[in-house]
Amino acid sequence: MKCLVCGDKPVYHYRDFGFSLCRKHFIEWFEKKVFETIKRFKLIRPGELVAVAVSGGKDSLTTLYLLNRFSEKLDFKVIGLAVDEGIKGYREYKLDALRNFANKIGVELVITSFKEYFNATLDEMVHTLKEKRMEYKPCTICGVFRRYLINLKAREIGASKVATGHNLDDEVQVFLMNMLRAGLRNIAREGIITGLHEHPKLVPRIKPLYFCREKEVLAYSILSGIETPFVECSYVVYAFRDKVRRWINKVESLNPGIKLNLLALKELISNLLRNSKYGEGVIGTCQICGEPSSGNICKTCFFIDYLGLETSMVLRKEI
Ligand code: SF4
Repeated sequence: MKCLVCGDKPVYHYRDFGFSLCRKHFIEWFEKKVFETIKRFKLIRPGELVAVAVSGGKDSLTTLYLLNRFSEKLDFKVIGLAVDEGIKGYREYKLDALRNFANKIGVELVITSFKEYFNATLDEMVHTLKEKRMEYKPCTICGVFRRYLINLKAREIGASKVATGHNLDDEVQVFLMNMLRAGLRNIAREGIITGLHEHPKLVPRIKPLYFCREKEVLAYSILSGIETPFVECSYVVYAFRDKVRRWINKVESLNPGIKLNLLALKELISNLLRNSKYGEGVIGTCQICGEPSSGNICKTCFFIDYLGLETSMVLRKEI
């Protein structure tokens, strides 16, 4: 196989389309795809401040890197926003890499933490979860609290959009999980841009890597010198998503193109559901903290009580 454009030595092979690209043309193609995604779907408007939710992994670092690169041309500002969940042996390494990277590319970084807002680290919360026989998994708590803090902090710093590093594989995995759980409302809500005009306190979320495969992002990050330590969160073993991820990767390796088909199917079903009762506006206000919520009480306040977190009242007063 040779590069489809110049015949040079290839670095990336698109199995489903049957062509390869060399380093230069792969980087060009990837950057153009993300740039055109932002423009075509009007993810960012001139003058906006975009908070990039960064975990320190390759996807979020690539998002931060590219949005910073495009910011001048498209006339917007970028800031990095990270949450320290308090996961020993994992988060400190990712945060170090993130600080170094943000510093290297000259982007301001804001870091908030579970300890600061909930007076407990995720490790401490998992201790309580184990006492309660793991009725809820660490990733459920982690995801709910992290989304809550990202939204809160993004609003506080005046960001009008939150950009995440979700890629094509993430979208397909979440779609399959929602299907398996019959989560039709979630399927109706998921998309390249969410939260637009849904609630005055909800900062809309955008996904610039929506059409990029996980492997493409990995290849791009390596070729662009975006470094991140190879450490994995120890709680990933509890995640249902990890099992879905392994399964879909296996299916894709035997049938190249399955993930793209699933993304297309997801778009079709989401559009249909958005125009049905499952797509009707369900975002209200939490009666305890005043934040956006699909029920009377938001999931964050529910878990604060469930875990017996003592600073819940401080959190609520602050808000
Ligand atoms: Fe949080 Fe789960 Fe990811 Fe660990 S694997 S950082 S617990 S969502």
